Amino acid sequence: MNNNNSKSAFKQAQEVIPGGVNSPVRAFKSVGIDPIFVKKAKGTTIWDIDNNEYTDFVASWGPLILGHAHDDVLKAVADAAANGTSYGAPTEIETEMAEQIVKMVPSVEKVRMVNSGTEATMSAIRLARGYTNRELIIKFAGCYHGHGDSFLIKAGSGAITLGLPDSPGVTKSTAKDTLTADYNNLESVAKLFAENKDQIAAVIVEPVAGNMGVVPPTKGFLEGLRELTKDNGSLLIFDEVITGFRLAKGGAQEYFGVMPDLTTLGKIIGGGLPVGAYGGRKEIMDMLAPLGPVYQAGTLSGNPLAMAAGLTALKKLDETPNAYEDLEKKAAFVEAGFRLNAKELGMNVVLNRVGSMMTAFFTASEQVTSFDEAMTSDTGKYAEYFKNAVENGLYIAPSQFECLFISMAHTEKDLEKLIKGNRKALEAVK
Ligand code: PLP
Repeated sequence: MNNNNSKSAFKQAQEVIPGGVNSPVRAFKSVGIDPIFVKKAKGTTIWDIDNNEYTDFVASWGPLILGHAHDDVLKAVADAAANGTSYGAPTEIETEMAEQIVKMVPSVEKVRMVNSGTEATMSAIRLARGYTNRELIIKFAGCYHGHGDSFLIKAGSGAITLGLPDSPGVTKSTAKDTLTADYNNLESVAKLFAENKDQIAAVIVEPVAGNMGVVPPTKGFLEGLRELTKDNGSLLIFDEVITGFRLAKGGAQEYFGVMPDLTTLGKIIGGGLPVGAYGGRKEIMDMLAPLGPVYQAGTLSGNPLAMAAGLTALKKLDETPNAYEDLEKKAAFVEAGFRLNAKELGMNVVLNRVGSMMTAFFTASEQVTSFDEAMTSDTGKYAEYFKNAVENGLYIAPSQFECLFISMAHTEKDLEKLIKGNRKALEAVK
């Protein structure tokens, strides 16, 4: 595979962009090769600047559940752009978007649009603190909630990929307000509540962890969090930046039937443009300025292009018959293929999947239900697997601790190519 153009583009980028990238995992550091520079993408195919072709299972890290450059999304954005790109004044499409979110996400009665998942989580904990008049929050080791200071404590995603779960630059006084518990371990949460009585504003959790690789909630975990937060007068925040509109129309809360007080959204909600949102019960959301005292704002929030793209994507998901059943079928087909490959090759690979999000962990562990178990993965082996997959025309996450995403655009041929590529890559690392 010829990567000369990507290699020289990366060199040039490194002169003027830290590490040559605008988000750390894109640099492919943990898999030991230079990043692929993308020229264009359509449907499930990505072309790099050396004209190599890949079938994509990263989906821009989750947003592109309809595939790349979906015709309806492109048209909506072009139509919106023709009328101006930003007004800094209210538009009707923002209300339409809010109505669509309220319709789809069961616990959300009112919603505020922001520009990224990071903004959504930062704003949600400020609101939770303002509402409860308390200062501490609980997060889980290995969960990632964007790069807000309060969340870069035992953080997942790029932070664990690069071995930087706690970041310099986060002050001690900020860090002390974030308590960390163990995912799928209710006792660790109960202990923090007991030790910090009446001080915990909120528990924030990825209802399916996606940023230490996919780790599903064990039976009773989300229900237990609901109970503990209720009993202690704290808010439960589901960070559905990945799971929102991916696991079901109403995200993980619908999928598992557990209702949080606040929900943070991102990725799919923008249809590939920069969007985030947070929402919840009316009496909590009405604490926000200009109605209430909790301040949060944004020059480009509710941007007309972003709303057009996002609303088109959400409507498509809402209106396509059996969208989620089809995604489940496709993803189950991939899981079965991967399982058979590993079995026939006599390899121990732990496959975790919930709906259309999946991770294959290269570990000797029998299961991955916790951050500690995820961390037993052989990242060197993953790097070799990754390189082989790329050589075979598969674009997958350049990190063991991320998800493989199936989209509505994937065809049977794409999925068969993935399973075959998985087999070849497994053989290479055996
Ligand atoms: N929350 C979760 C669960 C995420 O996976 C991410 C990003 O990967 C974020 C928050 C932050 O979103 P963004 O990268 O849009 O700021």
